[in-house]
Amino acid sequence: MKHRIVVLGAGYAGAFAAGNLARRLSPADTEITVVNAEPDFVERMRLHQLAIGQDLPSRKLADVFAGTGVRLRLARVTGVDPERRAVAVTGEDGDGELAYDTLLYALGSSVAHHGVPGVAEYAFDVTGRSSALRLRERLAGLGEGGTVLVVGEGLTGIETATEFAEARPDLSVALAARGEPGAWLSPKARRHLRQAFDRLGITVHEHTAVEAVEPTRAIAADGTSIPADVTVWSAGFAVHPIAAASGLEVAGTGQIAVDRTMRSVSHPDVYAAGDCAYAIGDNGRPLPMSCASAGVTNMQATAAIIARLTGSTVPTTGLTYFGNHISLGRRDAIIQMVDGDARSKSWYLGGRPAAGIKSGVLKGAGWGIAHPTFGMPKRRRRLATAPDRAGVRAAA
Ligand SMILES: Cc1cc2nc3c(=O)[nH]c(=O)nc-3n(C[C@H](O)[C@H](O)[C@H](O)COP(=O)(O)OP(=O)(O)OC[C@H]3O[C@@H](n4cnc5c(N)ncnc54)[C@H](O)[C@@H]3O)c2cc1C
Repeated sequence: MKHRIVVLGAGYAGAFAAGNLARRLSPADTEITVVNAEPDFVERMRLHQLAIGQDLPSRKLADVFAGTGVRLRLARVTGVDPERRAVAVTGEDGDGELAYDTLLYALGSSVAHHGVPGVAEYAFDVTGRSSALRLRERLAGLGEGGTVLVVGEGLTGIETATEFAEARPDLSVALAARGEPGAWLSPKARRHLRQAFDRLGITVHEHTAVEAVEPTRAIAADGTSIPADVTVWSAGFAVHPIAAASGLEVAGTGQIAVDRTMRSVSHPDVYAAGDCAYAIGDNGRPLPMSCASAGVTNMQATAAIIARLTGSTVPTTGLTYFGNHISLGRRDAIIQMVDGDARSKSWYLGGRPAAGIKSGVLKGAGWGIAHPTFGMPKRRRRLATAPDRAGVRAAA
């Protein structure tokens, strides 16, 4: 019987991981299945662009994995039973169950409401394709002078506010920030950000914690009312509750607690990568939820899975966070590198060159997903436990 590897989620972490596993492990003794709710690869890093009316390239997962040996199961994961090594799914063909020998959990994240009243009912977000499309429709129907409030001064909030203001100068765009937007940036990069907000006509409400969202306004902690025909909630990501409900050990964030090799600390057959993994970086701090972290955690997880299955030494790959690439619309961006303690270096790159690099990074990530088995070695590795190899080893 082949060793069944099931990868949950075909986002940046899961799609790369599945391709990497297929590239390195022999199909003679492994069977790799990816489960994803949507038929397309969703470029989450560009969902604010989708929301404001830009069209993104479509990448069907069926095409991505065609000819790779990876099986694609289009279904929604509803639960994991790590004691029975089974995943519960529901799809067009009804409910089902998938058995695994090794599980890689990479279901990503969605919007964090933080329990703020009115967010679930009235606010929009750009953390998933369906929510971005709902916002796109709303914005398309918003006439000149319409007010849009983006709540959250993190990377997604900044990218969303600047993208919307650049693409729709007819709208009045505001950003509500708990603190000072870009406070973590170097002084020069912070100045660049402020100039971008001014140039794009974005009103910034600093030190403003939004405590309630209503259909046409948001209410701040000090009682200030901010008019908003559309409120876009960008106050952080939250992981799906499936991991915690399954009995896997999770951190306070709900992310799966993993060791240095991305292996669950409670269930050794389970690995996690991407937003849903509580991974400690080489600087001793939790890696931020980001595409960059999805990259390094899936590389580590796949390296560990392959090594353990093929009986070789488990390598440690770098878990370094280098910095942020922040889009400020299509023609401007900030690239801010950080040091080993995650503090911004004084050097940053801004303007068109930075926008060009960010665009290249996005294209590179998309290309990598579309070519999951690029560089496939001629001979893929056999499992240490493969039945037809056990005799060879015994005889040797
Ligand atoms: C607007 C926006 C801009 C961003 N910009 C940047 C940026 O510039 N740089 C950066 O580093 N990061 C950025 N991020 C963050 C980055 O997109 C995420 O950190 C990254 O996508 C995480 O990768 P992942 O593979 O863990 O999750 P995802 O990419 O979210 O993939 C998860 C996959 O699992 C599937 N899935 C989820 N639930 C289920 C289920 N129950 N059943 C089956 N399938 C399911 C989803 O459909 C998806 O395919 C941005 C995010 C947003 C929303």
